[in-house]
Amino acid sequence: MATLTAVPATKIPGGSFLIGERKPEEVFTPEDFTEQHLLIAQTAEEFANKEIVPNIEKMEHKEFAVHRELLRKAGELGLSGVDVPEAYGGMQMDKVTSAIIADRVAKYGGFSTTWGAHTCIGTLPIVYFGTEEQKKKYLPGLASGETVGAYALSESSSGSDALNCRTRAVLSPDGKHYILNGEKMWITNAGFADLFTVFAKVDGEKFTAFIVERGFPGFSVGAEEHKMGIRGSSTCPLILSDCKVPVENVLGEIGKGHHIAFNVLNVGRFKLGAACIGSARNSIETAIAYAKQRKAFGKVIADFGLIREKLANIAAGIFTGEAMGYRTVGMMDAAIAQLGAEHDDMASVRKVIDEYAVECSILKVWGSEFISQVTDEVVQIHGGYGFVEEYPAERNYRDVRVNRIFEGTNEINRLLITGFLLKRAISGQLPLMAAIKKLMDEVLSGTSEEVEEGPLVEERNLVGRAKKIGLFAAGIATQKHMQAIQEEQEIMGAIANMVIETYAMESAVLRAHKLIMRNGESASALAIAMARLYVQGAMEKIASAARMVIAACAEGDMLRSQLAILRRLCKYDPFNPVSLRRTIAQRVIETGKYQVA
Ligand SMILES: Cc1cc2nc3c(=O)[nH]c(=O)nc-3n(C[C@H](O)[C@H](O)[C@H](O)COP(=O)(O)OP(=O)(O)OC[C@H]3O[C@@H](n4cnc5c(N)ncnc54)[C@H](O)[C@@H]3O)c2cc1C
Repeated sequence: MATLTAVPATKIPGGSFLIGERKPEEVFTPEDFTEQHLLIAQTAEEFANKEIVPNIEKMEHKEFAVHRELLRKAGELGLSGVDVPEAYGGMQMDKVTSAIIADRVAKYGGFSTTWGAHTCIGTLPIVYFGTEEQKKKYLPGLASGETVGAYALSESSSGSDALNCRTRAVLSPDGKHYILNGEKMWITNAGFADLFTVFAKVDGEKFTAFIVERGFPGFSVGAEEHKMGIRGSSTCPLILSDCKVPVENVLGEIGKGHHIAFNVLNVGRFKLGAACIGSARNSIETAIAYAKQRKAFGKVIADFGLIREKLANIAAGIFTGEAMGYRTVGMMDAAIAQLGAEHDDMASVRKVIDEYAVECSILKVWGSEFISQVTDEVVQIHGGYGFVEEYPAERNYRDVRVNRIFEGTNEINRLLITGFLLKRAISGQLPLMAAIKKLMDEVLSGTSEEVEEGPLVEERNLVGRAKKIGLFAAGIATQKHMQAIQEEQEIMGAIANMVIETYAMESAVLRAHKLIMRNGESASALAIAMARLYVQGAMEKIASAARMVIAACAEGDMLRSQLAILRRLCKYDPFNPVSLRRTIAQRVIETGKYQVA
């Protein structure tokens, strides 16, 4: 495998961040990018600036030939085939590289969506589940961008509930074809794609994936949807009317389509998270440039504290988003490297990715909600000009909205996060129950383990407390509801929120800690300020979610004593957020962009 990185060296189990303490040297951060990573980042960035940005207007007007041309050019640069094995014309890079490309290409939502659908959900089903013949036949075209891919799971009556699809497949009397009937909805790239992974139920029961070429008899594409955002992308229904699909185009096993449907979404989710961070980096540049030239009350608006506050929050979010995103793909790469001789076996690789399903959902939810806040604030910084089409702030605000809907809605992903963790806890894969018991004992005896030395002591202690608060609330909720907790969605959602924020704050602190170890404390002042600002905000959210869970699970004296314990866990001396934000804002305004130092 043309892997680029071997950092960190240890395999870390998915979801284990909740129960163990990680060391900075165990996590991968953007500061660990190799020369090759940086080169690819530069190539992707140049591609975006030179090829995507100048073509935005054309793409907004649905000139799909431009999308095709851009995918082909990206293919020539090796960007489209990043996850495709070399044997089939791809580059087979590590997952850090996949994330870097998704991040750097994200300059325009209309094309990022095309890109994501093609390189990820449109290509990976064949990479991970295709037969040798299917790979040889289809992957070289997909990797080069000559063939455009799409993924057709959703239907008008089943989106989140995708396994409940109505599309049917029956074997033809001569046994040579499956005959597909039904309609798919919301299919990205459908207007111009050549190849579709289509899900249907064989004999109305067995959920199965099929590789469907655009030219197959009985296949047609409906009209473009009129969308709120990502108007440059193509989204259409597919009509399958006695569509004849050769039996050799069954992908994976009959009745096992759900493995394909859900496995590739993990990659889709971490890439979507990376794209949201890339988009936030672009957004802050636009916002700073505007704020530095727009005058009000005799000053540029970049001089106002309330504008600076927004810029500082965005910068701290980018720092955190990068930290958690690259930490996750770094863990995947470390685990893939440990596969040894099997690291070329795509079935083993996808199992590794599946191990980090919780982290992938976290990146998707966190990234999509962060970029929604960012684009909202960027509109606000632009005032009235943010509300008109003349400035990109308006389009970006609309474009990012869909990120909370596709690749699994954020509600579904929240349920997945808590559900996966509980499943692992119950099966003993993750010793969560033991950790909850240890914490309960600690809480009842009034003792508390906290770190006392090294850099970022307070922040590291807050991360430790965040984990305890999450475990405490989850322990109370599971004791009360046992297995039936799955039915308590509001509690599942609140636990997911604590898990998400814990991962985010820990990643930010570990990254700042690693920077201090490398460059010293004063050279890392900006990173420390960003991590500290993020940690403080996250603690507030975690405390609020825990209060809600506890209040929903206990009453009377029990409630009062549990809330007293929670208050003890949540008690800390606050940092000065105004001063932190001023420090961060000063630097990003000076340089015109997000900075780490
Ligand atoms: C622009 C765009 C592009 C898309 N591209 C593709 C594509 O390429 N391929 C593809 O297959 N699909 C695609 N989709 C479809 C997308 O994946 C679905 O829209 C999404 O999964 C949600 O399904 P739905 O629209 O049916 O909403 P529903 O599932 O009806 O959900 C409606 C609301 O109910 C909530 N909800 C649903 N179930 C639950 C539950 N169990 N618990 C709590 N809340 C719940 C949802 O979170 C949501 O808020 C695309 C959608 C859009 C808008």
